[in-house]
Amino acid sequence: MIIQFGVGPPGSRSRDPLELKDIFIAVKTTRKYHKSRLELLFQTWVSRAKEQTYIFTDGEDKELRKRAGANIINTNCSAAHTRQALCCKMSVEYDKFIESQKKWFCHMDDDNYVILPSLLRLLSSYHHSQDVYLGRPSLDHPIEAAERVKSDGSVSVKFWFATGGAGFCISRGLALKMSPWASLGNFISTAEKIRLPDDCTIGYIIEALLEVTLTHTHFFHSHLENLQKLPTDTVLDQVTLSYGGFENRRNVVSIKGGFSLAEDPSRFKTVHCLLYPDTDWCPKMNPRQKN
Ligand code: UDP
Ligand code: MN
Repeated sequence: MIIQFGVGPPGSRSRDPLELKDIFIAVKTTRKYHKSRLELLFQTWVSRAKEQTYIFTDGEDKELRKRAGANIINTNCSAAHTRQALCCKMSVEYDKFIESQKKWFCHMDDDNYVILPSLLRLLSSYHHSQDVYLGRPSLDHPIEAAERVKSDGSVSVKFWFATGGAGFCISRGLALKMSPWASLGNFISTAEKIRLPDDCTIGYIIEALLEVTLTHTHFFHSHLENLQKLPTDTVLDQVTLSYGGFENRRNVVSIKGGFSLAEDPSRFKTVHCLLYPDTDWCPKMNPRQKN
């Protein structure tokens, strides 16, 4: 199913409008990216969602803690880029969300820009007590995995999953149902059963075990796609953006504003200033140049 803004169960809105404070935003990072990636997020979108954004990392950093205080969570997971280490972080993210009592869980990578008004608008078209799993599939077909049943055998399972690099969201109602396979370390043993990364394991629990389908949305973006292809006039309507890594620095959204490509290679500052022109470091627009 392809979803669009404003499409959702009728009558669930207005009486109890969703607010930003109802959303738990988890950002996965690692010690070596605190300066090169997180700094930019703090400067931009995280500054507009300080209270509900939690940073999940793997190493103590006094400077970061001074800046973000209690919202920095040192998972004590290994800093390696292994399935076990990444699943360990996801497991802590899950437990912290459950503890938070918030209505929505959204997972992000540290190279995502979250367009908060769009996120709020999208989630507002659902109810947190329904079973909702929203994100972008990274493949155009379901993944097929061998599910270990006993020590000696395995069966094949097929399911869709939302790619972690584009961010994804899960309603509280659904997250609670995931508990037997996701809470208190169970996530790690679930991941071991299919030997796949954290985002696939989320898909496995939701689609294969709970039989809830992923709602495919194209408003979430990772740098696995060609970001330059995103039409400029739709960039601010997206929910998440990303930017190319070292191997492909030119894979960024095509948007013009106060910063050149050299000044703002990820385009996140440019996007941020278009969304929040009142930000003190944004270039002041000459009224005659407005359009
Ligand atoms: N990451 C991590 N530990 C590592 C390497 C990366 O937690 O050892 C995180 C990183 O901070 C990011 C996510 O995993 O949030 C994806 O990493 P990256 O963007 O480098 O890789 P890719 O998107 O190409 O998979
Ligand atoms: Mn990435």
